[in-house]
Amino acid sequence: MLWAMLLLPILAGVGFFLAHSSRTLQDKAVGELKAAVRLQQQFIEQWVSERSGDIDFLAADPRILALPPQALNDLFLGILGGIPGFIDIIYVDETGFTKVDPKSPAGVDLSDRDYFLMAKAGKSNVSDVLDSRLSGEKVFVVSSPVHDARGVFKGLVLGAVSLEALSTLMQTVQDESASRTYLLRANGELIAPSGPDGGWAGLKPGDTLFERALANEESRGIYRSAEQKRVVGTYQWVLGGKWLLAAERPESDILSTHAWVLGVPLLGATLVFLIFGPAALRLARSLDAPLRRLEEHARQIEAGNFDVDCTPLSSRGVPEEVLRLNQAYCLMVDRVRIALDALRQASYTDFLTGAANRKQLFLEGPRLLDASLRSGQPVSLLMLDLDFFKRVNDTFGHAAGDAVLAGFSSLLRNAIRKSDLFARYGGEEFAVLAPNAGAVSARELAERIRQAVERLEVPAGGVSVRFTVSIGVATLEGPVWPREEGSGAEPLEALLARADEALYLAKAAGRNRVELLALEHNTAQA
Ligand code: GH3
Ligand code: MG
Ligand code: MG
Repeated sequence: MLWAMLLLPILAGVGFFLAHSSRTLQDKAVGELKAAVRLQQQFIEQWVSERSGDIDFLAADPRILALPPQALNDLFLGILGGIPGFIDIIYVDETGFTKVDPKSPAGVDLSDRDYFLMAKAGKSNVSDVLDSRLSGEKVFVVSSPVHDARGVFKGLVLGAVSLEALSTLMQTVQDESASRTYLLRANGELIAPSGPDGGWAGLKPGDTLFERALANEESRGIYRSAEQKRVVGTYQWVLGGKWLLAAERPESDILSTHAWVLGVPLLGATLVFLIFGPAALRLARSLDAPLRRLEEHARQIEAGNFDVDCTPLSSRGVPEEVLRLNQAYCLMVDRVRIALDALRQASYTDFLTGAANRKQLFLEGPRLLDASLRSGQPVSLLMLDLDFFKRVNDTFGHAAGDAVLAGFSSLLRNAIRKSDLFARYGGEEFAVLAPNAGAVSARELAERIRQAVERLEVPAGGVSVRFTVSIGVATLEGPVWPREEGSGAEPLEALLARADEALYLAKAAGRNRVELLALEHNTAQA
């Protein structure tokens, strides 16, 4: 997965680059091909026009009509030896029959040839490719009319040019690249190169590029070469649309000659991947576990659970920053937990005495009470009220009163069991809920407290304050409390009320006393 994450963007980048650069390379190759065919075109046209000029010049020579045939024959032979390209030079008389021909016997009828008709009309001509009636070879013919001094048509001079000459010519401008140029007739027949070099021309009628050429459209196209390779090609018409000059180059060759353009980024991407891939992977792996752990912690904290396991990460392979992040995180969680604990503690503890507050008594009390009753145990509740406490305040001051309250609380805390719940119920009024304590042990407990308070001296502002306490005890004994949800008074409230009654009795009987009242089930339910 991680490998894929690393590899994908690199591959996508290289792929995009390759697609883009292959298009660019193709554009470049087509540009080169176009330049090559334009050069060939100019070269061919220049050469053909020179040959036309040769024949025009010859046809205007008065010796054509003046010299006897044998002498003219010699003249032609001399010219053939001096001008490359021509395989034959012939004088055709005004009837269309060959009159002087150094290469073949005279008297061949050419009167139906286009160039004869053109000459009759007084025009020079460059013919399309023809099968020579004299040699049987494929040639094209450059011709020019002959007139006597009075301007009367006296036939024509023609030069037959072999297709090999065109091939040779084209090879002289062929560049070194793998591109190939060739000349086609408008019907798709290959003109040059001829011979063993020929036959590989790819462009043929039916190819999109050929049809485009016929329609004189966009001069770029992709088709299959004679070897069935995909090639990129272009064309150019030569001699005013007589012949089609095409150039093509294999697509694979375009890409391979520019392999470095493609290879360098590929190689670069591979190197980047090989060098940084493992490191990136290791980094990603080393981040993965600690981040997962942090995420797990965060989820727990979101759910309100601050008791997350924040043991330090093993530092092997984990980056320093992540270790520190985890440490800071754990520290933060710790502090939040402590602060929350303190807040929670404060919310159910009385600040002055450290006893549970009234709220806590009502939250926690019913649970303790229920648990005890369910297990068939009795429950007792002691209501303790300091005697004449107002006087302590009045005599020694409010601070001394506070000290007395604190002193009394710590005495009380030491006197009771851990399982007992001890709460400050009012100003100087406390309650002790003692589960599993029946009437006897509750009275014993109350008496023990009463006597201890009697003996207690609380130092406050240089004096020692002594005081007494009155205690009312209510006990709930017997079978499981037959309580149903929402039925009758809550047992805790019933117990409190009953203990308060007992306390009232203790006060009324002179204070510094313990009074006990049992609580009947039906009383509680009333
Ligand atoms: P009794 O024997 O009938 O209980 O008499 P008493 O004076 O103890 O009862 P009373 O209800 O008349 O007075 C209680 C006094 O407790 C009044 C109040 O000022 C004082 N007191 C309540 N809370 C605090 C406290 O937090 N600090 C101090 N110093 N005094 C308090
Ligand atoms: Mg009171
Ligand atoms: Mg009092």
